[in-house]
Amino acid sequence: MAETLTVDRLEAWYGDSKVLHGMDFNIRAGEVVTLLGRNGAGKTTTLKAIMGLMERRAGSIRVDGAEIIAAAPYDIARKGLALCPEERGIFSSLSVRENLLLPPALAKGGMTIAQVLDLFPNLKERLDSQGTKLSGGEQQMLALGRILHTGARILLLDEPTEGLAPVIIQQIGRTIEKLKALGFTILLVEQNVAFASGLADRHYVVELGRVVDEIPGPELDARLDTLKTYLGL
Ligand code: ATP
Repeated sequence: MAETLTVDRLEAWYGDSKVLHGMDFNIRAGEVVTLLGRNGAGKTTTLKAIMGLMERRAGSIRVDGAEIIAAAPYDIARKGLALCPEERGIFSSLSVRENLLLPPALAKGGMTIAQVLDLFPNLKERLDSQGTKLSGGEQQMLALGRILHTGARILLLDEPTEGLAPVIIQQIGRTIEKLKALGFTILLVEQNVAFASGLADRHYVVELGRVVDEIPGPELDARLDTLKTYLGL
């Protein structure tokens, strides 16, 4: 399978503080891949660096072979990448419909609002509600629906299960399975190992701004003790 996203020797800084020290990993088209690691390991920063949202970064990031390390965020979005941030980024003064329509459809083939609502039926009767009146789970679905509308094919999801009830986490898991079946490529940052283990083809373990291990999905259970050591559990 072709490599869709290739990250080589990626470095990134906040001001003078370097937090990514050479991240190396790749994702093939249609895969679900996780970044696992302790708080502060550099997972969110990696997603931000891929999207061009860090002031300073170095190394190489290729999308279908094309280099994007020096590209601006809007050009990266045009390549079909989108970030669903941990804090979800729902605009409180806008309705669900307005939140869905807000980002421009930068890449071709984005889902229509009707298709987004088929995927997230809970949002249908909430279309005219204010974004922040939604439950945490509905806000997460809105945040996901919004990036599907942009036409992105490579989805960077930052802890989509954070703070959600188990039943909602299951729903999010089923949605990710559907998106995989539809051919989306997904990079998932997770703290919830049980959730990640049921979904991902491969896992990368991140420590202090580097990938320190790669675990194939089927081997995760057998290597759970090692993983718990990495995660400090
Ligand atoms: P978490 O699950 O806690 O978000 P993470 O693995 O995603 O963890 P990052 O948020 O990428 O980790 O943080 C990596 C490092 O960068 C940490 O040492 C963190 O303190 C630092 N950091 C994060 N955001 C900033 C910022 N805006 N300014 C300066 N340093 C930051």
